[in-house]
Amino acid sequence: MMNELVILSGKGGTGKTSLIASFAVLAGGSLVTADCDVDAPDLHFLLQPQIQEKHEFIGSKLASIDLDLCSRCGLCSEHCRFEAIGDDFTVDGLACEGCGLCVHVCPQCAVSMKDVVSGHWFRSITRCGPMVHARLGFGEANSGKLVSKVRQESRNLAEHARADLIMVDGPPGIGCPVIASLSGASMAVIVTEPSISGLHDLERVLDVCLHFDIPAAVCVNRYDLDVTFSSRIQSLTRQRDLVFLGRVPYDPGVTRAMVHGQTVIERGRGPAEDGIRQLWSEIQALIDGLHGTET
Ligand code: SF4
Ligand code: SF4
Repeated sequence: MMNELVILSGKGGTGKTSLIASFAVLAGGSLVTADCDVDAPDLHFLLQPQIQEKHEFIGSKLASIDLDLCSRCGLCSEHCRFEAIGDDFTVDGLACEGCGLCVHVCPQCAVSMKDVVSGHWFRSITRCGPMVHARLGFGEANSGKLVSKVRQESRNLAEHARADLIMVDGPPGIGCPVIASLSGASMAVIVTEPSISGLHDLERVLDVCLHFDIPAAVCVNRYDLDVTFSSRIQSLTRQRDLVFLGRVPYDPGVTRAMVHGQTVIERGRGPAEDGIRQLWSEIQALIDGLHGTET
């Protein structure tokens, strides 16, 4: 039975990536990792994937006018509500929304839609097993579509490798990419930090999980930076009848480990290590529980 664990934070800067990389080490094989933060991927800094396959991601289409066929009738320009067709009947690639209307109104069949390479996705191998990751091109939209692609490919890879678990590094926020990273997941783990913004972002991302009926559990990273807020987060989690997984203390060794391209677990003992090990054992218990409820 394969499970998909999505790790979210609701916002950047919570230390989620270092936790995920540590979990990947602790999982000890039979794991596929998927980095779904396609706008600003950073898991590769710690897992250092060796790319085995690189694929283009076609995220959209743009209109293209064949000026040899074009009679300059102006119909396409009149109908384009995005004013993407200039007086010289060339298409402004930044303005074109790819709606395709100009193709239909052109009496000369001079317009066609061309694929746009909006980014790339990769199949790689890391010291913790296979990994699927991606990078969206600068200024490109459709990150939700690319996230769906990364998830689909990670499932294919997990089936092929007979892996038990896919661990998904989810994007920040609560928008379309987060929804794409959550859909059909077995469970979400939300990493938060003890601050007012951490608390608000946690509530927002919990609402998304609830809406999509994804079981969610919560942990606080660097909890001792504000123990009052840590307690408030813990209380909120329990009020909402969710599992509170635990807390990880602030540890300057986490940054030192990252600078060396290592996880906290690999770098050696420090205040954060015990907390992370404890979190992982709680997560494993929840994953085992998912198996239990389905059998
Ligand atoms: S595809 Fe749509 S947005 Fe693009 S040029 Fe044609 S009508 Fe305008
Ligand atoms: S509708 Fe077709 S023929 Fe007319 S200006 Fe546009 S591309 Fe040219």
